[in-house]
Amino acid sequence: MTQYCKSCILPSTKPYIKFDKYGVCKACHFHMIKNKRLKNAINWKKRKKEFDKLIVKIKNSKAPFYDVCVPVSGGKDSITQVSHLLKKGLRILCVNVDYGIKTKIGYHNLSCVTNMGANLITYRPELTLHKKILRMSFLKYGDPDLMSHCLLHAYPIRVALNLKIPMVLLGENAALEYSGSSSFNDKLLSTKWFKYYASNAGMTPKKFSKIHKIPYKKLKNYDLPASNELKKTIPVFCSYFFKWNSENNLKIAKKYNFKTLSKSSEGTYRNYVGIDEKINRVHQYLKLLKFGYGRATDHACEDIRNNVITRKKAILLVKKFDRKKISNYFINDFIKFIGITRKDFFKTLKKFTNKKIWKTNKNFNLTKIDEIF
Ligand SMILES: [Zn+2]
Repeated sequence: MTQYCKSCILPSTKPYIKFDKYGVCKACHFHMIKNKRLKNAINWKKRKKEFDKLIVKIKNSKAPFYDVCVPVSGGKDSITQVSHLLKKGLRILCVNVDYGIKTKIGYHNLSCVTNMGANLITYRPELTLHKKILRMSFLKYGDPDLMSHCLLHAYPIRVALNLKIPMVLLGENAALEYSGSSSFNDKLLSTKWFKYYASNAGMTPKKFSKIHKIPYKKLKNYDLPASNELKKTIPVFCSYFFKWNSENNLKIAKKYNFKTLSKSSEGTYRNYVGIDEKINRVHQYLKLLKFGYGRATDHACEDIRNNVITRKKAILLVKKFDRKKISNYFINDFIKFIGITRKDFFKTLKKFTNKKIWKTNKNFNLTKIDEIF
């Protein structure tokens, strides 16, 4: 029987989720710490000072080319990360990993970072291998982004190390923000963090290389450097220093000409997420089929925690948006890009639909087996 967090609506079918004895999830707990509702609340003023001190330290390290590297997708969060570094006299290098099918609005939003005063490198992996990886990841594991998430975390760090950039400013620490896991360092990205939160279900690039007989040297860009190498830069999470909040990040991004959609993004009620790239929609839809929750749940849970909506309203939004079928706008480009047939696409969706969670009919409409809403 699926259990739902008593405070938000995250289900027990979410990987790594933990509940306390009152049935409240750890992500909600972390949120209370963030927002000073508990004794061990985070002192944000102190952390801001820590950030300023770190900036002085990296400026003094006299790096040859750039002072800080920022991995960017072109989303609202990337622009927020860059905004925290402005007016400090830093040489900023943004690194965008273009691993999928970028949209027009995605290109526009990515250009915001250069207009803000940051340099930008876009890395496109060689597509004969990358498309093969996407295809295998989708067909065999039901997640096209299986290795792409590794690539977009690892590659900018490799760039930082190669160019001797002393600091990498990452976005949010997903372990804390969405799972509330306290077993990870909240400030720094580590190899352990990468194994759990960049690699899906422990499928590291090394493991992938072995199973699928792809020489590891060809997959190095997808993998984090060894921990002794990693020590040569400081990969810090922006969410450690500044309170992470999607609505606030959106407000910041809009100041720098960030564009949103005129209607909500497919699979959720927000119009400013998942708009820059198309394969992510397939990843998110499969998450729904495998684990019973989609993007609308993620966003509704965040909005409950921030007092933007009530739990009741969240349930209504999830019912309306979460289970929206994936449309041809995404399917057509996706199957063409990775080179599979429509039949294979739907066969894979069926294969990875969790039968313990969903009942489906021939039109692929989803009904939860133990619907509590
Ligand atoms: Zn919760």
